[in-house]
Amino acid sequence: MLVRSVRCAYLNLCTAWGGERQARLRLARAVFGDYLAREFMEKVVIMGTGCAGLTAALYTARANLAPLVLTGTMPGGLLTTTSIVENYPGFPEGIDGYKLMTDMQKQAERFGARVEFGTVEKVDFSKMPFDITVDGEVIQTETFIIASGASHRRLGLESERKLETKGVTYCATCDGALAPFRNQPLVVVGGGDSAAEEALYLTRFGSTVHLVHRRDSLRASKIMAARALTHGKIKPVWDSVVTEIHDVKQDKVTGVSLQNVKTGKHSTLEAAGVFVAIGHVPNTQLFRGIIDMNEGGYIIPKKGMQTNVPGVFVAGDCADHVYRQAVTAAGMGCAAAIDAERYLSAFNQ
Ligand code: NAP
Repeated sequence: MLVRSVRCAYLNLCTAWGGERQARLRLARAVFGDYLAREFMEKVVIMGTGCAGLTAALYTARANLAPLVLTGTMPGGLLTTTSIVENYPGFPEGIDGYKLMTDMQKQAERFGARVEFGTVEKVDFSKMPFDITVDGEVIQTETFIIASGASHRRLGLESERKLETKGVTYCATCDGALAPFRNQPLVVVGGGDSAAEEALYLTRFGSTVHLVHRRDSLRASKIMAARALTHGKIKPVWDSVVTEIHDVKQDKVTGVSLQNVKTGKHSTLEAAGVFVAIGHVPNTQLFRGIIDMNEGGYIIPKKGMQTNVPGVFVAGDCADHVYRQAVTAAGMGCAAAIDAERYLSAFNQ
């Protein structure tokens, strides 16, 4: 317990001081000798700062493990792009997604979690401790929690790629208020909660919001679907897929080509923006061939939240293609942290 507390204090001092991580380890080795220096190696590294990663951080921090939490390219995860979160328990009036995530981070940091900007580039789980390459620097850790979340799924059109950030976007909360979208017709693609939410949010700015869905009913929860479909500015376009986004030549979005999947009929819609909300793909490419996953790339835990590699745990959207809720991700983060702590206790006996 004393060693854990000293380690915690030392690591937090190092974080405040800054500097290269390996330099901290070298310093620990010089001060405490080789045997104790092992104590100053990372016990827990967490990849991801969404609900899963930050909850795992909170629990492992409270276990005095001073976890190192790496943000990746999207600190706070997908929830930071949501306007109001109405289904996270404890907030009767709902809470802004960005605020929820910054508060979660503060809560974990209060107990000694060290949240740092950094993207995991490579992992080597073939030996203990694991080698984790973060922005070119190798970190050694005894356990690793994958909470890398998911990214927006793309339509896969060439025109979509070329017009990204030029009218094609994946986040209404981030981009909806931009000048080119104001008082203009807009297109939202998708039929889930995200599409319903994006469409509703965009009614504040656009003249009309066309909600293009490939079937004739929304997958969104009943409350979100009803809100979207009864809104005067939202016009559903059923049974339709976007086949082209215009206009690559003008280097901006001017509209979309559609095809009705039942009749095969083609049509066009004028639009200044296309908001794609067709679900997500798990951020697990880095672990292909190392960690067991299904064909969709979702990691399959083997026992509790432990993966097929002892010492490597998983939590959140990268392992969940069924529920995908903030609260379930947080629950998985808690479970992964408890599993990691128990693993470390057994490992270090
Ligand atoms: P989702 O539930 O997986 O919905 C994706 C939608 O995109 C589906 O309607 C799907 O059509 C459509 N789609 C998928 N691939 C497509 C393609 N290639 N072309 C055209 N359409 C395509 O994803 P989500 O809406 O992002 O929601 C993810 C999870 O987060 C869900 O569990 C949701 O409940 C949750 N969430 C909750 C809230 C909230 O409660 N406020 C907000 C956002 C998200 P089909 O219906 O035909 O499959």
